[in-house]
Amino acid sequence: MSQRAEKLAALHRDILACRACQQAGCIETAQPVVSLAYSPSKLRSAAGRAMLIGQAPGQVEQAAGAPFAGRAGCALFRWFERIGWHEAAFRRHVYITSVTKCFPGKALTGGGDRPPSPAEIRLCRPWLERQLETIEPGLIVLVGRLAIELYLPGRSLDAVVGEVFARDGRQVLPLPHPSGASRWLNAPANQTRLDRALDLLREQLGAPPEDATA
Ligand code: SF4
Repeated sequence: MSQRAEKLAALHRDILACRACQQAGCIETAQPVVSLAYSPSKLRSAAGRAMLIGQAPGQVEQAAGAPFAGRAGCALFRWFERIGWHEAAFRRHVYITSVTKCFPGKALTGGGDRPPSPAEIRLCRPWLERQLETIEPGLIVLVGRLAIELYLPGRSLDAVVGEVFARDGRQVLPLPHPSGASRWLNAPANQTRLDRALDLLREQLGAPPEDATA
């Protein structure tokens, strides 16, 4: 096992033991989700390593113990298949995480999951920072508004999807959330933005590596 893989395994043990949001009364039960399918690897592109940041796990992800394991994940991986990255290769070579690592619960108004609160985001931020330190990604894919807000605050989806941004020495590539609840994708102009973003992602990722580790 590489040094990076050992460091990541230790970090995952720490994250999985975290109950900060439960202790703070933000969520009923903390059950963190981390990506165990990832094997630290260098891409066939200048990006080096890549990381994807989503919003938060849902109930399906919590039960499966893996990020993007539900319907939104199916839609996301269908996008990636369009650019030659099948789910297994993507999970293995791109580290998938989220702004917060625990299912926040359902929205009181119905219509899906509650977005993590500012308190949950603040409590979970140190884990995200440690994930960034451990993976050292040259490319960060941001999925959905909450993740995009971390790097491109106050920017609309229309303004950022289909572009790549340089932030802190890294390339940052925003994508809309693939959830069916997002109506943003219904507009033809936004489908064109998504197509452009996926083309850029293909350029940034290159072809899936065979078995490179780092
Ligand atoms: S969301 Fe993050 S900070 Fe909160 S309990 Fe889960 S792992 Fe800990």
